[in-house]
Amino acid sequence: MIDLHCHLDLYPDPAAVIRECSASGAYVLAVTTTPRAWPGSKKLIAGSSRIRLALGLHPQLAHERAHELPVFDLAFNEAVYIGEIGMDGSPKYRMHLDVQRRVFKHIVELCALHGGRTMSIHSRGCASHVIQILKQAGKPGVPVFHWFSGSNRELNEAIDIGGWFSVGPGMLASARGRTLINMMPKARVISESDGPFAKVSGRPARPADMARVVEGISTLWGEAPEVTSDRMHASFRKLSTLSNGFVKR
Ligand code: MN
Repeated sequence: MIDLHCHLDLYPDPAAVIRECSASGAYVLAVTTTPRAWPGSKKLIAGSSRIRLALGLHPQLAHERAHELPVFDLAFNEAVYIGEIGMDGSPKYRMHLDVQRRVFKHIVELCALHGGRTMSIHSRGCASHVIQILKQAGKPGVPVFHWFSGSNRELNEAIDIGGWFSVGPGMLASARGRTLINMMPKARVISESDGPFAKVSGRPARPADMARVVEGISTLWGEAPEVTSDRMHASFRKLSTLSNGFVKR
């Protein structure tokens, strides 16, 4: 099992979720939402061999946390993975798009300057802008679009720039999400929980739920869950090699 986007530090009892991850053998990319969460999250996952940490500054917090960018820059050298980053153009956050753009651009340019990073990216209501900034940055690394919800055209643009996709319970629960999953290149799709925000059976999704997500994707793709699971693990190894991340070279 692979969970490519999980907010481990935001569960009421992170240690219990981490124990469950170890027991289930799940690989987890633990994303963070503020640079200040980096040291604490590092401690939290210490000793968990299948969990990696991503350094982030969430677009929904950009207007409150832009002043933490120097903290981000300091932690950057330790970070193989970046996220959650991006932009959010939904009604509640679109008045902050200017500061969101400044923060996202800063981070993406930093990634490009340092040879590229694998980035877990939020692009709700803003996919074209996000893609444009990624393109302008040159070679910022591998963008992994998490819970992608853009138009068909935006999806094709994301695919064209080499985007990968992490797909979870929220996408599987909506008809539009399922349509998008069907349009994605199968070799660039990996499961995610987006827990504790996304829900499974009315409670926060956890990495151990990823078998159900893989099953949901396999049903959409008309293949056996084992086929989807094997492909996803192969893709994950490829992504790890690209990132010099989970798989050591
Ligand atoms: Mn998230």
